[in-house]
Amino acid sequence: KDFTQKIFSDHNKNNILISPEESELIISQILHQNSSNFPLFFHKEVPSSRMIRELKKFISTLINRKVNYPECLKDLKSSKSDQLELVFNEYIKYLKENNLVDGDLLLHWVIQQLTGSNINSFNNVFIYGFYEPLPLEKDLIKSIADNSGNFYYAIPFGDNKAIFIDDGQWLGIKDIQKNIPKDQAYQISNIFSDIPKSDLSKWLFISSKRDRLLEVRTIAMQIRNLIARGADPRKIAVAFPDLNKGAAFVNEVFPDHGIPFDVAIHDDLAQSPTIQTIFDMLKVPALNYKRTHLVGLLKSPYIRFQYEHEGKKKRLLPNEVDFESLAANIIEGSNNWLPGFEALIGELKSEIESPDTPEPKRNSLGNRVKRIEKLIKGITELFNDIKTLEGKKTIGDHIKKLRCLLSKWDFQKLTDYHEEEIYERDSKALSSFFNLLDSMELSFLVIPTKKIDLNEFLTTLSLLTQEKKYRKEKENRNKVQITGLREIVHLTFDYLFIADMVDGEIPRVSLSQPFTSDLEVERMGLLTKKDLLRQERYYFLATLLVAGKRVYLIYPQSERDKPLVFSSFIDSITKCFEYNTWGEIENTTSILLTQFNEGKKLAQGELDYAMITNTSPLKVSNILEKINIENFYRKKDYNSKYDGVLENDNGIVEEMTLKFDDSKIYSPTMFEMFGLCPFRYYLKNILYLDVMPRINTEITPQERGSLFHRIVFRFYNERKEKGFTKVTESDQKEALQHIKTIAHEEFNKFYYDDPVWTAFKQKYLGDDILRQGLLETFIKKEIEDIPPDFSPAYFELSIGNPIKPGCVDKYSTEDPVILDLGDGDPGTVSIRGKIDRLDITGNNKFMIIDYKTGKKDHSFKDVKSGLAFQLPLYILSVENLNTEIDGIAGAYYFVKNPFEINKWIQIGDKTYKDMFGSLGKVNGIRDDFGVMLLGSLNHIKKYIKLMRRGMFHPSVHFGKCPDYCEYKTICRFNDLRLFEFEGSELDESN
Ligand code: SF4
Repeated sequence: KDFTQKIFSDHNKNNILISPEESELIISQILHQNSSNFPLFFHKEVPSSRMIRELKKFISTLINRKVNYPECLKDLKSSKSDQLELVFNEYIKYLKENNLVDGDLLLHWVIQQLTGSNINSFNNVFIYGFYEPLPLEKDLIKSIADNSGNFYYAIPFGDNKAIFIDDGQWLGIKDIQKNIPKDQAYQISNIFSDIPKSDLSKWLFISSKRDRLLEVRTIAMQIRNLIARGADPRKIAVAFPDLNKGAAFVNEVFPDHGIPFDVAIHDDLAQSPTIQTIFDMLKVPALNYKRTHLVGLLKSPYIRFQYEHEGKKKRLLPNEVDFESLAANIIEGSNNWLPGFEALIGELKSEIESPDTPEPKRNSLGNRVKRIEKLIKGITELFNDIKTLEGKKTIGDHIKKLRCLLSKWDFQKLTDYHEEEIYERDSKALSSFFNLLDSMELSFLVIPTKKIDLNEFLTTLSLLTQEKKYRKEKENRNKVQITGLREIVHLTFDYLFIADMVDGEIPRVSLSQPFTSDLEVERMGLLTKKDLLRQERYYFLATLLVAGKRVYLIYPQSERDKPLVFSSFIDSITKCFEYNTWGEIENTTSILLTQFNEGKKLAQGELDYAMITNTSPLKVSNILEKINIENFYRKKDYNSKYDGVLENDNGIVEEMTLKFDDSKIYSPTMFEMFGLCPFRYYLKNILYLDVMPRINTEITPQERGSLFHRIVFRFYNERKEKGFTKVTESDQKEALQHIKTIAHEEFNKFYYDDPVWTAFKQKYLGDDILRQGLLETFIKKEIEDIPPDFSPAYFELSIGNPIKPGCVDKYSTEDPVILDLGDGDPGTVSIRGKIDRLDITGNNKFMIIDYKTGKKDHSFKDVKSGLAFQLPLYILSVENLNTEIDGIAGAYYFVKNPFEINKWIQIGDKTYKDMFGSLGKVNGIRDDFGVMLLGSLNHIKKYIKLMRRGMFHPSVHFGKCPDYCEYKTICRFNDLRLFEFEGSELDESN
């Protein structure tokens, strides 16, 4: 390569040498401009970058192997070969017309110059290192020979036909000297043959280990051993058939054994974190300012974007943008961000103004408003910067704008690095990326293109970047060298380790040729499996010869519990040579092992020993504390602060006593939450911890529920104004029409327009022909299931909340209801809430009805055990508000779909059983109805006492944690632990 490039730069006048990336761009253009001719290479209207790379490889193969394509295929010609031929011809034509030469045609160009005698003859030429050169390389070598005074060509050769078949006859030189010394190298080169076994037991060592990790660990221990015995680390090498795979283990194991090493690995430029950030930057405007893209971009530490706010420089914090944009339901579109945030500010402000909002929460909401205002400023400035990348431009102009933004955002500034290694990695990646931009700019002077949009520019740039490799670290020959099998040939080391000697890794005979079947490979004269095996043998032999003093072979026996088969080369080498074993060595050099042993000592109580060695990154006392919390405090009853039992902290108890004093107003659901899980209550209502909001693209369960409540409220409220509420058979048709009209009006207030919304509306309204809607079934149930004595009377009766006229019953009150809890502290409790519906009889008996549009969640047993409070507390509250009426029942009205509408009495007074009609056949109808209501008040009294004492432990109820519990990920609840309980204050009633 260097030789031909030198000739080219010395003698070329009119041509331009292009890079592999530029070749790919040309192929991409050819495909795009004639897309109808190349259906094979298009997927969803674009050829993938992988496809273009494969085409480049295919063209390269045709040139280097001088394949007469597609004629050589004979009867195998097809539309695929026609398209491949067309791409090849168009590519060559383009290069010729534009005086371009690629890396493959460069050989051709040099051959032409040599045969045309445009170049002076060489005096002496020495060529060595070629094993089975390609046809075009052979032509080049021959033309060099023809132009040389003295020509010396060294062929790697031996008597072993399993490895050597190229004897150089193709050079046409009669006098070929065979100089094969009968030394150890010659002895080794007889591998893969049937010669009698020879003794290499002082040089050749073989071992196997359970898995790859142990394999690399064994190598590390052996290297430490060699170094301890005076070996020079620079003279030790480890070769892997697959360097990337091996390097991952080496990076983990070698530092643990304190071995200095250098991995000869080139990483993909596209995988570099700093380059990925540049692509993330481009993605934001190219892909319509998606929320996820912007948050992802801001999370990158390479983004140093700052904006001015109140005279100070600020950074946009990704967690803030993430949380608030989710809350604002922003999905994408640069124009949707600011209106989304402004709407959210409006919502937060009305929540702040609501008297229902407790003071601490009001403060935190106020802070959120300020935070969102700050975000608006920052995002506006960031979008202004990023928008400069948008629009249709030439590639050159796109690159200019990108460079401008990178420089504005300090990308080239490589000063703030604390770690030399990361600095090295990023500076290498950036310089490689800027080189790529330079070469793109140059090549687009050569290959002019039309103006393209940002999306197309992004695709082009990523295509070119994917090809690029870079080396993260400086090469360091003073350390143990970790390398690939093929990279190490022709070098010299004292000690060589060859790892991963397993079938499939070595030999590799499954090299795939793009776009070709096995038969086509044969007709094209490409390498067959037999050729590949011979080459693999040669490179293995060449690798073995690298080792001067010793070679250590090793293979893993399994990978993730799957057995591995050792390489056939192990078989061959052990048949030919006497060898020794290795690898049984005591591990005394691993830091991890030392820490592991220390952990064992700790577990046995040998604390002093651990403190002396002190190799752990944490203090021993810290580790012990953590172990104790898990092993002691989180066992059996909830009785420590680690389980939310805070009663021993006077400050907290004082604060809780104040927080839950007699002025505190509770809703029934607060007690339900505390009863089921005090810890959840604590996180939600005391710490105000919230989960990240979700983006809602369709109607939410809450919206569904309130929509039903709203429709039914308006229906009955309007009937009430006309003087009759109860639906009868005679006005069934009219009632249905009425409720459907209301439903239409309510649906029109939503802006959804998707199949889920259409199906939801149809579920409510039916289709007027076959399917009955939920509202129709509801009206029927209202006629059939209302006990004759009852009539609907109050709807959405609100207690203790601010009144929104037109949304709640006109008898609603803003004052909470105060219920008597009997002797002792607390003596009373203030209740607020909203009662869905209250049906009343002529003799002033009433029934509370609660609509359920989600799941049936509470049973009668829950009322008894202090997990369900709505029905009993609402009955008691209404009685308290109006002493002239008596509550005799509480019912659930389950409304899910047209086929699942049920009403049943959950708790009721048996004295009035006859009045309940068909609703009264449940076990919640009891003689001791009044006692049951009082039982709920007793539970409440106990809960308030526990809250004041700071008792906020996780649930004591087996299997009751709700699936949707937002704190599941941070709570340590364990069902099995409940079996160890000796009794809990909260659980006493069960
Ligand atoms: S998962 Fe269960 S125990 Fe944990 S917070 Fe939620 S309800 Fe409480």
